Amino acid sequence: MVKTYSFPGDSDLKLSEHFAVGEFVTSSDYGGDYPSEVPIDDHLVDILEQVYAHFDCDCAVISSGYRTYAVDIDVGGSGYGMHTRGMAADVCFRRNGAELPSRLIACYLQDIGVKGIGYRCGGAENWTHIDTRTESEWFGDETDYSCGYNDYYAYTGTTKTEVYPDGDTGGTSKLPDVAAVQEWLNDNYFAGLVVDGIYGAATKSALIHALQIELNINGANLDVDGIFGEKTKAEILCLWQGDTGKLVYILQGLLIAHSFTAGGFDGIFGAGTKAAVIAFQYKYGLEADGVAGKETFTALCG
Ligand SMILES: [Zn+2]
Repeated sequence: MVKTYSFPGDSDLKLSEHFAVGEFVTSSDYGGDYPSEVPIDDHLVDILEQVYAHFDCDCAVISSGYRTYAVDIDVGGSGYGMHTRGMAADVCFRRNGAELPSRLIACYLQDIGVKGIGYRCGGAENWTHIDTRTESEWFGDETDYSCGYNDYYAYTGTTKTEVYPDGDTGGTSKLPDVAAVQEWLNDNYFAGLVVDGIYGAATKSALIHALQIELNINGANLDVDGIFGEKTKAEILCLWQGDTGKLVYILQGLLIAHSFTAGGFDGIFGAGTKAAVIAFQYKYGLEADGVAGKETFTALCG
């Protein structure tokens, strides 16, 4: 949701752990003035934090966030783009003093479902345009404004291992591991799954079985049939940061099945799991509040 802040009054107001209002305000080198009101989409801030956490950054610099019509025109825009709605930022992420390449950021953004991605923003290798458009996808290479491709891994020659490095200690960067989920379902629910790391119909059904069993333990009276219908939806318990236990394992398993890292598979709803829930909700057009409730489980089990 886009919220409006005042400038400079709210300049130091923190929107999240690493980003404050003032960082999203853009003037123009060509004389455009600073605005007195600054719209900022809170989804944009969520995305920036997720990138920041995933790559274990220690700094992120926004060169251009919200632009007024006049400033957008001054910097060569149309005056009506995503920057003029507070829904875009041009960002450079850094770790240990080094700028991270835009290709890694673009691949990761693609994986978490961001639809507006400008690779090599302004022609710079380490800058990325990120916006929160929700309808059709725009992936572009800003060195020549070419677009029309849909996979930054292929376009930039980037490997999954570069984006999800082995031995990463960040805790949220491990590759999703469906095999671990299958083993857990076998150990805890006698699911009898072949541990092949592939999310197919049997694994999906086993996760829904487990969900129904755990909801029944928590007071529901569901048929344990592995089918997510209206009755199961009605009995869903909301999960949020701080929750632990088997329902959280099931949530993480469902997120991993959908290729979200889930912050691990440990039954603990921490910051990584919350970030994955937000990314999933964002990708599926749900309210991105980081709380896994009826609509989120419906989408995860659909
Ligand atoms: Zn931009």
